[in-house]
Amino acid sequence: MMAKEQQRAELLEGRPVADSIKKEVAEEVSRLQQQGVVPRLAAVLVGQDAASAVYVRNKVRACAEVGIESEKIDLPPSTTSDELLAVVRRLNTDDNVDGILVQLPLPKQIDDSVIIEAIDPSKDVDAFHPTNVGYLAMGYPRFVPCTPAGIIELLDRNRIEIQGANACVVGRSQIVGRPVASLLLQRHATVTICHSKTRGLPAVTRQADILIAAIGRPAFIGGDFVKPGATVIDVGVNQVTNPDDARKYFGAEADRRIEAIEKRGYTLIGDVHPAEVDLVAGRRTPVPGGVGLLTVAMLMKNTVQAAKWRRGK
Ligand code: NDP
Repeated sequence: MMAKEQQRAELLEGRPVADSIKKEVAEEVSRLQQQGVVPRLAAVLVGQDAASAVYVRNKVRACAEVGIESEKIDLPPSTTSDELLAVVRRLNTDDNVDGILVQLPLPKQIDDSVIIEAIDPSKDVDAFHPTNVGYLAMGYPRFVPCTPAGIIELLDRNRIEIQGANACVVGRSQIVGRPVASLLLQRHATVTICHSKTRGLPAVTRQADILIAAIGRPAFIGGDFVKPGATVIDVGVNQVTNPDDARKYFGAEADRRIEAIEKRGYTLIGDVHPAEVDLVAGRRTPVPGGVGLLTVAMLMKNTVQAAKWRRGK
């Protein structure tokens, strides 16, 4: 008798969705150009954090791909709060700038919230300003933070029904957890938000048809956290440096991942344990290659939106 083939979760790849969003944005940019409007993003990087530098570089590159003009402003690690505020105020009043992005985290001498609150809400393409957070919480979103907006696009474009679904978000950050919970609620999911003080977490997450993990802990969500057939969205970006861990987490992919560790010292993993969850879930987003690609695509979309709204379009 043939052995029963093991059921595996379908991978929800970010690339095709991100590519189609970027294609739509590029079409919109060329329509705007015909009307004499060229959307422009200003990206501010303070300090020399390697990961932040990569994020900003990817964002600037994506701008070029879709026809958005960009300006990268590099400031030294010693920048003071007042100096950064002066840059933000200049960008606020520069009529050629549609979107302002200040890459987080900022060096410790600068209070993130002071800078975020100084950004003109109509240029706040990251959507972290309290005005935009407030609109979203009220159910009238204007700008929506890029990662949460990308997660909704990924669900919609893969025809995963949100309305009426039990959705569980693990993590309550301003950047991911809270805004994605607001968006899911707005789309009529029944939403549970979990965090580090949640009791009996696996029993709560096992109720979810859509489980979103935004925690920042490698492979935290194991198979026993997942309802059979659920859609699991893995937002986490963590590093695995130990080949034994890689063997445990990655199943059939382990050899390739161990090679990556040997080559550059690490491989990326999300908050979801891929080998375990693939045996239970219906669908799972990979890391890398999942949600992260959508974050950049949605920034492009927000920048074009800013260019249109600022001109009353
Ligand atoms: P934060 O550190 O701001 O928030 C983490 C959240 O996870 C907190 O709400 C915390 O709870 C919760 N948490 C921590 N430990 C546990 C636990 N043991 N059980 C349950 N909940 C727990 O992280 P972010 O939201 O900024 O980022 C989360 C992950 O997503 C990170 O890996 C980050 O790198 C990644 N990320 C990826 C992006 C992408 O584009 N792919 C974009 C943004 C983030 P509490 O509030 O109680 O402390």
